[in-house]
Amino acid sequence: MPDNTRGEMQGTPWSPRDLLRTILLASMAAGGVAACYLEASSTINLSTQLICLAIAIIFVAIAGAGSAALLADGLREIRVRRSEVTQQLTDAIAQRRVPAPAAPPGLDDRNLVSGVGMSKYHRPGCLLVAGKFVDTLDRSDHLHAGREPCDICHPDERMDG
Ligand SMILES: [Zn+2]
Repeated sequence: MPDNTRGEMQGTPWSPRDLLRTILLASMAAGGVAACYLEASSTINLSTQLICLAIAIIFVAIAGAGSAALLADGLREIRVRRSEVTQQLTDAIAQRRVPAPAAPPGLDDRNLVSGVGMSKYHRPGCLLVAGKFVDTLDRSDHLHAGREPCDICHPDERMDG
C-alpha cells in the first residue's frame, strides 16, 4: 500500500513538500548569487569582490545540497515502492498458485530468458519478463553472464506435470 505520509502526487516519488523545499533553496540561492553579483559589481575593491564570490559559492552549494537531498528522497521512495510492488506480485502469484509458468517439459536447461541489465534468468512464461525484450539462452550461458535463477518462476526446478 502507498505510504500516506508521503505525497499524494501519483507517479512521482516526491511529495509536494520535497519539491517546495528544493524550489525554496534554489530560489534563495539564485537571489543570493544575484545579490553577490550586484555587490561585487558596485565596487572596485578586490577583497570585497572576493568575499562576494565566496558567499556566492556558498549559495550555489546550498542549492546543490537541496538538489542532492531531492534525489536522495526520490531514490528512497523508489526503493520503498519497488519492494511493495515486488511483495504484491509475489503475493499475487502465490495466491494464484501458479505452478511455475508453462514451458515445454524436457527443455529445462534451454529456452531460459533474460534481458540486458537483468540479474535473473526466467522461464519464458514468467510474469516478471512479460512484455520485455529478452534473449533466450541456455542455463550455462546465463550463469556465465553472472545471472541467478528467478525467485518467482524457479527456472532451476524440474517441471513435472
Ligand atoms: Zn521468473
